[in-house]
Amino acid sequence: MKHSHQSTHPTNIKPIRGNGLAISFQTPPHIKEFQSRIEENSNLTSSITTKLPTKRSPSFILCNIPISTKEAEIQEALETQLNLSSPLNLRFKFKGNSTETTNWVFEASAPTLNTIHQVKKIQMGWSMYRISEFFHFKKCNFCQAFGHTTKDCHRQIPSCSKCADHHLSSDCHSPSFCCINCLVSNIFSGSEYPTFHSAKDRSCPFFQAAIDRTSCIKRLLIMCVQ
Ligand SMILES: [Zn+2]
Ligand SMILES: [Zn+2]
Ligand SMILES: [Zn+2]
Repeated sequence: MKHSHQSTHPTNIKPIRGNGLAISFQTPPHIKEFQSRIEENSNLTSSITTKLPTKRSPSFILCNIPISTKEAEIQEALETQLNLSSPLNLRFKFKGNSTETTNWVFEASAPTLNTIHQVKKIQMGWSMYRISEFFHFKKCNFCQAFGHTTKDCHRQIPSCSKCADHHLSSDCHSPSFCCINCLVSNIFSGSEYPTFHSAKDRSCPFFQAAIDRTSCIKRLLIMCVQ
């Protein structure tokens, strides 16, 4: 063995459904090393199987499409405007800003996602619709915190994603931006984050941290004991 056993030590182990363990490592190569150590030991291979978590491909979201719109129409618009050679996989859809609209989430390859970052809008009929990367993390639209969704929020008073005041983001008339997450952290944790951005801004340190947490899956190994 080239490396010391120390280097492949898991950073976290937690039980999962069935007889399994989800084991976190510092880097993906550490997972490989750990797996080969198990394979070298015939006592272990007879009772333990390992697998990597199923990878989620990146996704993008197409916002506030009229509910009457058919998937075929959307696929056609995407194919021509993103220069695709085949239709994309639909992941799911959910209610948009009003009951009359739907948000559509599709899977996309990295190159397609690059095109999406450039075009930012898709035309259908006479209207333009916002298209952007979709991140798999929970964010509350009521208090703007990460880690839970609006329906699980325990707050009684909303915080605005635009100006950090206590009203719903949809009721905001403020001309200026203030990020509630950075503001609260500065006040209560002594951080010195800039606050002149919306809580939905991708460059916000809290937004970035949420994205980083979703990439943890790449450092995870699932181990099943028979
Ligand atoms: Zn909340
Ligand atoms: Zn506001
Ligand atoms: Zn912020």
